Amino acid sequence: MNMKIAVYPGSFDPITFGHIDIAQRALKVFDKLIIIVSDNPHKNALFTAKERVALIEKCLVAYKDSIEIHISHKLTVHETASLGATHMVRGLRAVTDFEYEFQLTHANRVLDRTIDSVFFMTDNKYSFLSSNTVKEIAMFGGALKEFVPDFVAEETLEKVKKKKDYL
Ligand code: ADP
Repeated sequence: MNMKIAVYPGSFDPITFGHIDIAQRALKVFDKLIIIVSDNPHKNALFTAKERVALIEKCLVAYKDSIEIHISHKLTVHETASLGATHMVRGLRAVTDFEYEFQLTHANRVLDRTIDSVFFMTDNKYSFLSSNTVKEIAMFGGALKEFVPDFVAEETLEKVKKKKDYL
């Protein structure tokens, strides 16, 4: 069978209901989704790449037969081709996402014309939701239950607390 494979790249620091929604919807279009967690030393992440993978695995355990999760140190478009995928999945929230994605998609097309990008419009419930919002709310001890699964909320609050103790 000719499997339709896509990658879904991002920081996922941490994974939110917005990311989960995009992954679930992408799985209605593609047979397999490979989530690529970027491990970029220039981005000051709260969770290590391995911790982010563990949280994603737990959130998407119901889809474990059709999802793989990888950590990447390469350019996403190169990683996509080497994994045998044909498409990159991204989510769009506001106009600011569009501008960023527009540039990124064109740069990727220059690097590899065989890889195309597919965009899913955010669910209106999650249009304002980002990993940064979750981290900021956690920093001030706010409730996270509308934004991330409970175990992600607990680990985020724990991490933020450790960072504060450290500072
Ligand atoms: P990046 O560091 O690439 O922005 P993110 O982890 O923030 O990575 O997001 C990965 C992808 O998921 C991006 O395409 C982003 O637009 C999308 N995304 C994140 N949050 C949401 C959301 N609430 N609704 C829809 N898409 C989202």
